[in-house]
Amino acid sequence: MSLHAAYDPDNIFAKIVRGDMPAVKVWEDDDVLAFMDVFPQAPGHVLVIHKVAKARNLLDIEPHQLSTLAAAVQKTARAVEAALKPDGLTVMQFNGEAGGQTVYHLHFHIIPRGVGQPMGRHSGEMADMDELKAKAAKIAAEVR
Ligand code: 5GP
Repeated sequence: MSLHAAYDPDNIFAKIVRGDMPAVKVWEDDDVLAFMDVFPQAPGHVLVIHKVAKARNLLDIEPHQLSTLAAAVQKTARAVEAALKPDGLTVMQFNGEAGGQTVYHLHFHIIPRGVGQPMGRHSGEMADMDELKAKAAKIAAEVR
C-alpha cells in the first residue's frame, strides 16, 4: 500500500469505530478512541486513533485533528504509566506498507517497556481476552 492510496472505509479500525468489529476499549470521546492491541508487543499495548478523521497516515490528517489525537496519545500514555508502572514507554506510528504499517487508519502505538525486556514481534501472538480486559480496566481507571 502506497502512502497516497484512497482511505478504505472498511479497514479494521474503521469497523471498530462503527461498532462492526469488537474491541477492548480503554477510553473514548466523540473524537478519539484508545483500545487494546490484540497482538500486543508487550502487556498493556494500547492503540489510539481519531474516530472522525478518514486519515490513512500522518501525512493526510488535518492538523487540528492531529492535535486532538496527539493530546489523546499523551493522556493515554499517562494512564498506562500510572496503571502499569513501566520503566519506559515506546510510542510508535508507521506510515505505508514500506514504513511498517499494516492497518491503514492512522494510529499510534503506546507500548509499556521494562528494563532489559525486548519488545515482542509486530502483529505476533493474539492476547488472552480476559487479560486484555483486565489491563484495559486498570488503565481506564487512571485516565484523567
Ligand atoms: P500497524 O502495523 O499498522 O502500525 O499496526 C496495526 C496494529 O493493529 C498491530 O499492532 C496489530 O497487532 C493491531 N491489530 C491488527 N488487527 C487488529 C484487530 O482486529 N484488533 C485490534 N485491537 N488490533 C489489531
